[in-house]
Amino acid sequence: MSIEIVNVSKRFGDFVALDNVSVSIPSGQLTALLGPSGGGKSTLLRIIAGLETADSGRIEIEGVDATKLSPQKRNVGFVFQHYAAFKHLSVARNVAFGLEIRKRPKDEIRERVHELLNLVHLSQFADRLPSQLSGGQRQRMALARALAVQPTVLLLDEPFGALDAKVRKELRDWLRRLHDEVHVTTVFVTHDQEEALEVADEIVVINEGRVEQIGSPDELYDSPANDFVMRFLGPVT
Ligand code: ADP
Ligand code: MG
Repeated sequence: MSIEIVNVSKRFGDFVALDNVSVSIPSGQLTALLGPSGGGKSTLLRIIAGLETADSGRIEIEGVDATKLSPQKRNVGFVFQHYAAFKHLSVARNVAFGLEIRKRPKDEIRERVHELLNLVHLSQFADRLPSQLSGGQRQRMALARALAVQPTVLLLDEPFGALDAKVRKELRDWLRRLHDEVHVTTVFVTHDQEEALEVADEIVVINEGRVEQIGSPDELYDSPANDFVMRFLGPVT
């Protein structure tokens, strides 16, 4: 059981954004898609989510062919760099949103939101508005909202990219800790080598629409597959 990306290609006009990409992502793993800007990371993530369709290839999620399934049927949780919170709804209602549209029982929603806000240490902000949170707290709210529906996979696109260095580092630790508690299969996109190396179980290096290497942080450091990976990871400091 896993996410299987099989021979996925995607063009925008003449431009090849993804060129026959195949990746196997084991269940419960925290995986980084790492590479320079424009390499195709977001496109691949959006194809996994079902927000974009591949020109060819196949996506399997937990043994089910998801290639033609809607994002909702894939049951993915998504966190973007610029989190689109509902400004007029409380933090608790924002987290509850996915459960409310699925018409889950009120008691269940209340309990689940309580749990999630505890998990991201935002209980005391439950009744505030998102505008009253800091950037880091807002992304923690976004994480709680994405986890609310107990997604099969959690997908994050440069989730901490808009934050300053100190908060980024803090949220990196949060992601790792949350993942260790929830164990949901997670894929996050980053162009930040340090972020990937410190947080991920496994890293998929993507450049110009192709997979350059897949491996643990140690494997990438100890034996980069080619010059590109070696240069991109940079010297050990
Ligand atoms: P990354 O997330 O690695 O920075 P993207 O997947 O966003 O890269 O984009 C890969 C390439 O595909 C970029 O050159 C980008 O300009 C192009 N691209 C992405 N989406 C579209 C689109 N909807 N239309 C045209 N070009 C696109
Ligand atoms: Mg991107």
